Amino acid sequence: MKKVSILIPCRNEEQVLPLLVERLDLLIESSTNYQWEILFVNDGSTDSTLNLIKSYREKKNYIRYIDLSRNFGKEIAMMAGLDFVEADAVVIMDADLQHPPEIIPELLQFWEEGYDDVAAQRKSLADATLFKNISSKVFHAILSRVSKTPIQEHVGDFRLLDRVCIDAMCQIRDAQRYTKGLYSWIGFKKKIVMYDEPLRSHGKGKFGFNQLMDLAIEGITSFTIAPLRLSLFLGVFFLVLSFGFLFFGNSFNIEWLAQTQPIVLFAIVFMGGIQLLTIGILGEYLGRMFYEAKPRPPYLIREKV
Ligand code: UDP
Ligand code: MG
Repeated sequence: MKKVSILIPCRNEEQVLPLLVERLDLLIESSTNYQWEILFVNDGSTDSTLNLIKSYREKKNYIRYIDLSRNFGKEIAMMAGLDFVEADAVVIMDADLQHPPEIIPELLQFWEEGYDDVAAQRKSLADATLFKNISSKVFHAILSRVSKTPIQEHVGDFRLLDRVCIDAMCQIRDAQRYTKGLYSWIGFKKKIVMYDEPLRSHGKGKFGFNQLMDLAIEGITSFTIAPLRLSLFLGVFFLVLSFGFLFFGNSFNIEWLAQTQPIVLFAIVFMGGIQLLTIGILGEYLGRMFYEAKPRPPYLIREKV
């Protein structure tokens, strides 16, 4: 019998866990042709999430968990989970039931047909604000233009990965991760299944503006060096422009060019801006190298059951 593991990163999900486990139990009871396992990764919850998981574990031996030493963020929590999955396939999903477990049989069906990476794509963003919707659109438009690895829109972490993909993901040890991009990067045979995203069943989404900005910057800088090139082009452009002013400024006999004061001011402020921008971008990449260069483990585990 093939073994399928359901990987669920959890941070402060005490309100949804009972319902989630109930829904997953229904799934497990109805598809008996697989050997199931539920793997929770407790990502530094401050509520009773861990106690709940432990109590489920006592009753149901197909439930396993990893307790991280603190909150490492969802990307790292998923990495920790993937490291410990022993199954033939893993289904990664959120705890909040925005990823309906009822879709899983459909994912399995495509896996049986030979696909290695079956992603569930949401048709609509049910509870996302207009701002979240627009910023997500803009981000994907930018990322798909500057990155050589195509990254699909509206496809999140809700997906089934075959063993080959799990092994591939485990080989990627980047501590700074943009997992959605990594799925594209690893390749393999991919399939997309559509579903309607329901509202978060309880509690609040943990990805506020700051987290989403982090993820967006992560997504761009870990997949492309295009921003570095942009600063290079800008630098060249303004250098040429400044020499233009220097050599030909007076020959045009334009009044505002003759009055050098505003121009000087403009040049100083503008060049200062460009330099800051460039330094900022450089810092972004340097910071990344700094993190990756340190042989620090991406996460630490308190307990593994
Ligand atoms: N999550 C996590 N660590 C964090 C933040 C979130 O493991 O630091 C988990 C969370 O418990 C949930 C999933 O990641 O299972 C998605 O989180 P959420 O629903 O808050 O994100 P959103 O749906 O708003 O993107
Ligand atoms: Mg959610």
